[in-house]
Amino acid sequence: MKNESAKCPECGAESLHRTTTNSGGGYGPVLLPGLERPISWGTFFSGTFAQLTVVVCAECGLTRFYADAEARAKLPQATGWLPI
Ligand SMILES: [Zn+2]
Repeated sequence: MKNESAKCPECGAESLHRTTTNSGGGYGPVLLPGLERPISWGTFFSGTFAQLTVVVCAECGLTRFYADAEARAKLPQATGWLPI
C-alpha cells in the first residue's frame, strides 16, 4: 500500500483515514474467502479471517480495501481466485 502523499485518487483530498478489520465474521460476508489464517495463539482473539486494511476518504467517501501480506501470499494457490 503506497502512502507517499496520502491523497485520495478520486478527489485529491488529503483526508484519508485507515483502520484494520477482519475480512469476515458475524453475519456479514467473507470478503477474502479461502485466505483464512491457520488457527494459532495469534488468531485466538482476532479470529482466523484474513485481515483487511480499510482506507476511506473523508471528503468523497471512496473506500479501498487492502488484503494483508499473509492473505496475498496465498492467492496463487488459493481455490476460487483466478488471475485476470
Ligand atoms: Zn476522496
